[in-house]
Amino acid sequence: MPYKTFGFTEEQILMRDNVLGLLARVLRPEKIAELEENSEYPYEAFRALADAGWLTLPFDEDYGGMGAGYKDFAVFIEALGYHFPGIRTAYMTTVVYGGLYIQNLGSDTLKEEFLPKIMKGDIRMAVAMTEPQSGSDVAGIRLRATRDGDDYVLNGQKVYITNAHESDYLVVAVKTDPDAGRKGISLVIVDTTDPGFEARPMDPLGSRSTLLNEVFFDDVRVPASRLLGEENGGWRGLMQGLNLERILIAAAASGQCLKIIEVAKNFVEDRKAFGKRITDFQAVAHKFAEMAMMTETARLHTYNTAAMLDAGEDAVIETAMAKVIASENNFKVADLGMHIMGAAGYVQGDMQRLFRDARLGTIGGGTSDILRNVIAQRMDL
Ligand SMILES: Cc1cc2nc3c(=O)[nH]c(=O)nc-3n(C[C@H](O)[C@H](O)[C@H](O)COP(=O)(O)OP(=O)(O)OC[C@H]3O[C@@H](n4cnc5c(N)ncnc54)[C@H](O)[C@@H]3O)c2cc1C
Repeated sequence: MPYKTFGFTEEQILMRDNVLGLLARVLRPEKIAELEENSEYPYEAFRALADAGWLTLPFDEDYGGMGAGYKDFAVFIEALGYHFPGIRTAYMTTVVYGGLYIQNLGSDTLKEEFLPKIMKGDIRMAVAMTEPQSGSDVAGIRLRATRDGDDYVLNGQKVYITNAHESDYLVVAVKTDPDAGRKGISLVIVDTTDPGFEARPMDPLGSRSTLLNEVFFDDVRVPASRLLGEENGGWRGLMQGLNLERILIAAAASGQCLKIIEVAKNFVEDRKAFGKRITDFQAVAHKFAEMAMMTETARLHTYNTAAMLDAGEDAVIETAMAKVIASENNFKVADLGMHIMGAAGYVQGDMQRLFRDARLGTIGGGTSDILRNVIAQRMDL
């Protein structure tokens, strides 16, 4: 992976090389193609990451984690995104979308129950916020949780929930006070084996090894002890994780850009037209220059913002910018990569897959429009 390191420490370079070596062994190109073809979760690679201890990366040292900083984590996620977006997503749904909510909001009992299992890779998780009637407008969710003795009883539906069909537990955003908007949201941990829970995989454009799902809750009982944080205090909890989620999505998109350039470069090596190598045509060479500039812009924003977060700065505008720039550049780079390869890109496995996967970045985790709203609001407009 020949790319610049933005002042990475020796440990960060070692971590990146180590994880790339591991992924090269357990996720060979033909395995990636097979997983995508069969819409199959990357079990072996997830297990290998767990066995090598990588699932402990962001967790507090008190709970047996490595206590990684933002930049450490961005370096790691960029490497996963570069190798295969499917393993990046598999890692993040369990560790970031499941585990870190528990670390940030859970009671000591919940942390002791869940974090060791998550870090060992013994359980897998996902997060469920989006509903058919409310995506960007999270405050408008309707999934109802009614208190009944020591339990909450859940009724309603979620949609587009990544890896819900593969998860042992879901962190679910529910309405505990239906008339209170964002002040009526709570977060609970749902056991997916409980009666009344059903996840139905959907048929998406890309990211086919980590499918999204429609999820149904029909009188699902959740012990009140599985509430994360305060009842009706879920909004704050959801906002708390956003800086990290956005910077990691930006890091993943940066990694995907690097891979697209590599795939396109491999293709042009012996591709000729009109008796010349196609890179002898300036129109083609300039597309590579464009891709390189957009990739480095994505990485610059990602690592600069991660460094700000590590320094304890409020970087809400910067994380929003990093996510918009990196995910939009990812799709533009994929478009150029496909153009350079002509019909071979349209048909060929890697470029076609990278193009499809790139379309998600500007939608998931807050659309580019919503993030532009965040930036504008913070500019006091
Ligand atoms: C592959 C994939 C995986 C996903 N995984 C998960 C998951 O694991 N868990 C989960 O909870 N959700 C998940 N989602 C859902 C994702 O978070 C939502 O799709 C996203 O928040 C947008 O919501 P929406 O699709 O309902 O679009 P809407 O909110 O209906 O928006 C539609 C369009 O209107 C625009 N728009 C809406 N409001 C505004 C506004 N105020 N200003 C300007 N423009 C606006 C949007 O930008 C968008 O272009 C996933 C989605 C995808 C595609």
